[in-house]
Amino acid sequence: MGNIAIGGGAPVTVQSMLNTKTTDVDACLKQISELTDAGCDLIRIAVPDENSATAFGIIAARTGLPLIADIHYNYKLAHLALDNGARKIRMNPGNMRDFGQIKELARRMSGEGIPVRVGVNGGSLHPDYKTMDEADALVASALDCAEVFETCGLKDIVVAIKASDVKVMTEANRKLAAICDYPLHLGVTEAGTMRSGLIKSALGIGTLLQEGIGDTIRVSLSAPPVEEVLAGKTLLRTLGLRRNCVEVVSCPTCARTEIDVEKLANAVERVTAHVTIPLKIAVMGCPLNGIGEGEGSNLGVAGGKEKSVILKDGKIFETVSSELLIPHFMTLLDEYIEEYSKNQHN
Ligand code: SF4
Repeated sequence: MGNIAIGGGAPVTVQSMLNTKTTDVDACLKQISELTDAGCDLIRIAVPDENSATAFGIIAARTGLPLIADIHYNYKLAHLALDNGARKIRMNPGNMRDFGQIKELARRMSGEGIPVRVGVNGGSLHPDYKTMDEADALVASALDCAEVFETCGLKDIVVAIKASDVKVMTEANRKLAAICDYPLHLGVTEAGTMRSGLIKSALGIGTLLQEGIGDTIRVSLSAPPVEEVLAGKTLLRTLGLRRNCVEVVSCPTCARTEIDVEKLANAVERVTAHVTIPLKIAVMGCPLNGIGEGEGSNLGVAGGKEKSVILKDGKIFETVSSELLIPHFMTLLDEYIEEYSKNQHN
């Protein structure tokens, strides 16, 4: 994760936000490492007070990554975060409406070449806009704030309009995309737990991406941030917007299932999250559909009662004891990725 381009035809990026206390530097560093291993492109950290701003500086220095500081209410914290190495500021105009303060911040950021994300949320829309239709209000609030930054010379602006209502979120982003050229950060806010959050995000973000709208995404979930990253990558891969990653196909299981499909599929997904080559891996519970599905995969496994079949490049590669299948398959997977990467570089 180095400097990341957003917009202007750059690939759509996946971002997430730490849920550790910013002042707990070790916990933050551990979570950053998990997120980068999972393929997160951009990481945001909340800076709710001065101690957090100090901790932000320590974290930024120790990771060397271009971290985003998330600021609400207090523009002084944005200055402190900038003093401490923030490479981008996310601010919400719904709760920072003093345009004088915003101008001062904008001039500094413009001078230092620091981008801003103007992030407007349905839940924290400023009362000035509340008489308008919700989607129109979100658009107007975002554009008014972006204009303040622009007039101060800051051109590097990303705009995010989020709402927990998928229809409002999609409608507002369509309106915004039709009238401005800012790169757009997409997300359904307060999307919920894994189940509802994934469905809402896939609908909201996925619909817009399919229409060619959106430059960076966050799948917000009430779940560990690494799940947001894995979901974001899966969404991009499903839409054909990210090809260099691993696709794990696995069967839904049934009375014929002979191996722990869920455990193996999850393990494969986790250990291959950082892999940037286009592999398809099939994890199937029995030979009935397993062998056929494995034929279209780079690697596949079809569980059996005592013996399981491993497929490599679409062909039966070996038969192993089902008891030893999972560790054996994981070793084979490592070897396959290494071999594939070497061949690509030759
Ligand atoms: S692959 Fe086999 S175990 Fe899995 S759902 Fe199909 S029939 Fe059942």
